[in-house]
Amino acid sequence: MSQPVILSDIGNVLVAFDFTVAAQRCAAKSPYEAEQLFHRLDGIKLPYENGEKDDETFVRKAIEALEFQGDAAEFRQIWCEFFTENLEMDQTLARWTGKLPMYLLSNTSGLHKDYLLSTYGIFRHFQDGVYSYSAKCSKPGEEIFLHTIEKLNLDPSLTFYIDDLPANIATADRIGFQTHLYDLKNHAALDLALNRWMGV
Ligand SMILES: [Mg+2]
Repeated sequence: MSQPVILSDIGNVLVAFDFTVAAQRCAAKSPYEAEQLFHRLDGIKLPYENGEKDDETFVRKAIEALEFQGDAAEFRQIWCEFFTENLEMDQTLARWTGKLPMYLLSNTSGLHKDYLLSTYGIFRHFQDGVYSYSAKCSKPGEEIFLHTIEKLNLDPSLTFYIDDLPANIATADRIGFQTHLYDLKNHAALDLALNRWMGV
């Protein structure tokens, strides 16, 4: 695509997240303390986000690992309700929406992607995206970036990529994207960088 494009990460860019909220709610129904609880998912979560397990298998295995005393619907709800929409980012994107295409690139699971896109208004700005669980690979590896270029027909030199993790930004830089290391506490820096990039 020979036009400027915004490509954005999701977690701690479009929505902030706090696993401890979910951990505390789970702990009320599990023999484990909130602090240790999600370490019990270490071996399950990454393969799930890389598409090696489907939603139902993940939920079943997580319930087993946590000895969660509730049903699958209850666990799914707790597992999704720890995000907060980034309203400053919504305002920034609203200024650019319709002027250039916007796409998502996220390490995420099917449960979270479906929940996020159907719950938060900020996702209305985005036309399409690439997600680790369906791409079956994840950031910061190069493979998912190359897949994104191909699937969304991107020209990296015209693509402004936003992510909060230095390792992901390093890969994007190497491939030739325009990048911005996002900090939730310094949103103004993104506005400046976007304005500069768009020549405003
Ligand atoms: Mg992130």
